[in-house]
Amino acid sequence: MSFKFNLFYDVAVAGGGIAGVAAALAAARRGAKTVLLENQVFLGGLATSGLIYIYLPLCDGKGKQVSFGITDELLRLAPEYGPFDLPEQWGGPEGGFTGGKSTRLECRFSPAGYILTLDKLLKEAGVDVFLETRICAVETASDGTVTALETENLAGRGKITAKRFVDATGDAAVVRYAGGAVETGLNYLTPWVLQHCKNAGSFVFDENIEMKAFNRSENAEPYRYNTDDPRGMTGFIRDSWELLRKYYDEAYASGISRKDLYPLHLPAMAQTRMTARICGKETLTNGSDKMTFESSVGLYGDWRIADKVWEVPYGILLPETVRGTLAAGRCISTDGDAWDAFRVIPSAALTGEISGVAAVLSIKEKQDPADLSLDLLREELRKLNYQFHYSELV
Ligand SMILES: Cc1cc2nc3c(=O)[nH]c(=O)nc-3n(C[C@H](O)[C@H](O)[C@H](O)COP(=O)(O)OP(=O)(O)OC[C@H]3O[C@@H](n4cnc5c(N)ncnc54)[C@H](O)[C@@H]3O)c2cc1C
Repeated sequence: MSFKFNLFYDVAVAGGGIAGVAAALAAARRGAKTVLLENQVFLGGLATSGLIYIYLPLCDGKGKQVSFGITDELLRLAPEYGPFDLPEQWGGPEGGFTGGKSTRLECRFSPAGYILTLDKLLKEAGVDVFLETRICAVETASDGTVTALETENLAGRGKITAKRFVDATGDAAVVRYAGGAVETGLNYLTPWVLQHCKNAGSFVFDENIEMKAFNRSENAEPYRYNTDDPRGMTGFIRDSWELLRKYYDEAYASGISRKDLYPLHLPAMAQTRMTARICGKETLTNGSDKMTFESSVGLYGDWRIADKVWEVPYGILLPETVRGTLAAGRCISTDGDAWDAFRVIPSAALTGEISGVAAVLSIKEKQDPADLSLDLLREELRKLNYQFHYSELV
């Protein structure tokens, strides 16, 4: 195949969601020539294109900050172009979901405004960004090391060659294309839509604008789309639109005026929470919170329940067989309850930063990321105030 371009980088980050942005920032700020490849016209992934507007907490819900570095930076900058303030309220109610009510160190943001902030950070760090550029194939060496990504955009078919890769695609696309093992997850039809609503009462922007969130009902059946069906995801998206039509039709039939209630913006990404994740060298699963892992490279406070803190074993970022590549964000190797805990914005930022740092160190050390010294990685992360074991918190 002939390519319109073949560009060379130290680190290529696949996917410009929160995990990808964090990975690219971490790599570029350490002097690596870094590229970020994003399929959408926006940066931020689900957090912006998917109309998610709550940066969930990075504290333990009992008054202690658990995650630092870029996870902290992206939280503090999130309100920059929006109407919300960053609350410094610590120690939310014990147990339970705070639902964005800011009793933990979390905040709301304008999805559109956040794109502007993320872009500014990438620009300042010198990351080469490609938007509307889809990774459609991966080249590998005989030992399973990823050597290049093949992309498609307006310029035609191109090639991005790099020393290391970060798969932050949210659905493990790089690892899948490289032949690595993945698991798919269960999802529910729970669209979020930005709407005009007179006297807004849901997730409120101002008195007439809210994020209407269709949350999962108690006994809801998972939405079973077939990942092998070429129209599987299309069905999921169009059924969310059907649900929205039903909601507006019923509202109008009950006498609510079209002038008072109408959609302003629909999500520009499929709102699946757990699409596909790598099978890693280690996997976090039910009951792994508060467990100690010798390989831990970070700490993460569960967004759902106070005092539930997870150590982050390095192996959950490493695909079982695919080399030269780390995963970040909602496609890392977590399962069951751990996948639900780790599929959100703060953990995307956290694992993004760790993968970006590890990618750069592994280039310097001329080692595969899987062979990188944990002491070296932790030494670099400790400079950002990272802690690694639950016992350090208490
Ligand atoms: C309905 C719903 C509500 C949620 N509510 C919250 C909430 O309140 N708070 C919270 O913190 N989290 C919430 N989440 C979860 C959270 O938004 C995401 O899981 C998180 O932002 C994931 O970030 P990520 O970077 O790992 O992945 P993504 O955001 O999925 O980013 C992956 C990026 O990779 C790109 N990509 C994928 N494939 C390719 C390819 N082949 N080529 C190029 N680019 C590619 C995608 O376009 C995307 O931009 C919610 C999710 C849903 C669905």
